[in-house]
Amino acid sequence: MDAETAELRRMIDAAQRIVFFTGAGISTESGIPDFRSPGGIWTRMRPIDFSEFLASDEARRETWRRRFATDDTMRKAEPNRGHRAVAALVDRGKASAVITQNIDGLHQASGVPASRVIELHGNTTYAHCLDCAQRYEIADIREAFERTGEAPVCDACGGHVKTATISFGQSMPPAAMIRAEEETLASDLFIVIGSSLVVYPAAGFPEIAARNGTPLVILNREPTGLDPLADLVLHREIGATLGEAVGNN
Ligand SMILES: [Zn+2]
Repeated sequence: MDAETAELRRMIDAAQRIVFFTGAGISTESGIPDFRSPGGIWTRMRPIDFSEFLASDEARRETWRRRFATDDTMRKAEPNRGHRAVAALVDRGKASAVITQNIDGLHQASGVPASRVIELHGNTTYAHCLDCAQRYEIADIREAFERTGEAPVCDACGGHVKTATISFGQSMPPAAMIRAEEETLASDLFIVIGSSLVVYPAAGFPEIAARNGTPLVILNREPTGLDPLADLVLHREIGATLGEAVGNN
């Protein structure tokens, strides 16, 4: 084990209440592209913001067509060694929460209880009614869309049905933001994994941790703007590094 990974292991061993903050980089190793990266979907296609989704039937259909275009990738993706290392620390009672910018549900799929995952940008693996919150499965919506060509509406109340994600122009979920801040302030080690830390307000959490005097680790393939605040910075593969530090395959 190299010196940086050994230091990460020492910090994990010494901690009792780790909070993870994860971004697209942990899931690219599961084959999920980073939609915001150069060449990613949001640099090639203009995002449809929330007000357009509400206002226009064509915008709703286009939103669903884009979602179905990613469906095969989403359904095939499985948790990787990085997700499993995080899950192992939650399972051992060492980590209290996983704050994530990801919408792929892979932390839950790796065995982290849903109650410990704080999804700042929601979840694209299912849909819900924007008015009454009734849940819908993507496969059912796709089947109906392919038959009728119509964007889905809620059986119960007629409201618009949308993936359970936070769109551009839609405010961050207040309960998740509050909980993420509480967990950050209560943590004794804050580990950022695979986030370039450019999207605010989400990226403010590592700053809150650092300001609070909590040791901060950043594990990301590329440098981030917050590297100078961190106690330990590792620019390298996520799954292999975290798996080795945690002693987990
Ligand atoms: Zn409804």
